[in-house]
Amino acid sequence: MMNPHPSDTHDPIRWDREHLWHPYTSAIAPLPVYGVQRCSGVRIELEDGRQLIDGMSSWWCAVHGYNHPRLNAAVERQLAEMSHVMFGGLTHRPAVELGQKLLAMVPGSKLSDGDPQKPEFVFFADSGSVAVEVAMKMALQWQQAQGYLQKREFITIRGGYHGDTWHAMSVCDPEGGMHALWQGRLAVQHFVPRPPVAFHDAWDPEALQPVREAFEQLGDRLAGFILEPVVQGAGGMWFYHPEYLRGVAQLCREYGVLLVADEIATGFGRTGRLFACEWAGVVPDILCVGKALTGGYMTMAAVVATARVARGIDGPFMHGPTFMGNPLACAVANESLAMLAEMNLPERIGRIEAILTEELAPLRELIPAGAVRDVRTLGAIGVVEMARPVEMARIQAAFVEEGIWIRPFGRLIYTMPPYVIGEEDLRALCRALTRVVRAEAECR
Ligand SMILES: *Cc1c(COP(=O)(O)O)cnc(C)c1O
Repeated sequence: MMNPHPSDTHDPIRWDREHLWHPYTSAIAPLPVYGVQRCSGVRIELEDGRQLIDGMSSWWCAVHGYNHPRLNAAVERQLAEMSHVMFGGLTHRPAVELGQKLLAMVPGSKLSDGDPQKPEFVFFADSGSVAVEVAMKMALQWQQAQGYLQKREFITIRGGYHGDTWHAMSVCDPEGGMHALWQGRLAVQHFVPRPPVAFHDAWDPEALQPVREAFEQLGDRLAGFILEPVVQGAGGMWFYHPEYLRGVAQLCREYGVLLVADEIATGFGRTGRLFACEWAGVVPDILCVGKALTGGYMTMAAVVATARVARGIDGPFMHGPTFMGNPLACAVANESLAMLAEMNLPERIGRIEAILTEELAPLRELIPAGAVRDVRTLGAIGVVEMARPVEMARIQAAFVEEGIWIRPFGRLIYTMPPYVIGEEDLRALCRALTRVVRAEAECR
């Protein structure tokens, strides 16, 4: 049959609209997309020559900005050796170096050798969602190997996001996520309410009561508790109190439930600590990292297991992606981590946090009138929570018109700029964002 809409292959934006799916979009009625020509530093250059200041780090990834000479050089060096080779039965220096770097930096790395809680093994995955699948499988396999055959279910917090693959989806927020779409077909997991105490508020031990009750009721069926430590990202951009995380870790130990920390968004400095678990001094049993791991260059994630977990799984661990340990991704990750190590991260993130806090504060004036519900910042993350969902196409165009790249979702307008952003660009980004939010508030 003839295509009823013959497409013009010379107009890439139009062809894209007619043939390419973008994240979470409809084939029939997609939102507009903007063609990008090149990116450099914190600038995204559109095909029509317009320059946008990047406020998203391409979804938490591009922490050093785009087209970085050191990261480019790392890729080129590795390219001359090999871009890929299978990881089954073979290994290579970039993977070994990355494993060593990760084990030396993750929470618990300073524990003494022989401590069962010390991170000891790394599994390279090809994306964040896959890392979450791997982590969940690990928890199940470990419980099985311990003889706890009835411990097969997971518990998590509402408002979370852990990826879009099958079991990752089952632990995403049941309302904000895709549970309704897959009703009756997703694995049934258990949910406790979103941690009620915000990061900067006074701690209230009552906040842990729902977790305690859930553990009392379900403890002997639970294999793992999966959560995003301190910052819930795509499920609602919520910053919660580190004491909550500490309490959950304690309860996990009491009930023989493995703590799986999903630091795919929070890892590598975004919250002001290298890992968000550090806010609570918690060492998870299983840790997932991804996103910023390669400085935003390539898809790569990793799952880190403690000695107790890795050694407690008897027999092989059953997973092996084709592109596992991809050398190009490992090489660029090694360079990115070296750059992070050279950076004074607390100072750098602290400076971004101070500017975000100062520049976004005036939007609090809009709270009493009802258009804005909350304005919050933590580390290099700034969030403006609106009272109602924004109208995407319109607000997206307004941001581009203002010369900034901000991608809201639902009621949330937020920014997490590359760590390399200079003061002037950051203030310009915030002021443009503020103008758009004010206009949006007046529209309503
Ligand atoms: C983005 C994200 C994932 C999924 O990672 P992908 O690479 O998109 O599959 C999982 N967990 C968290 C916390 C994330 O932010």
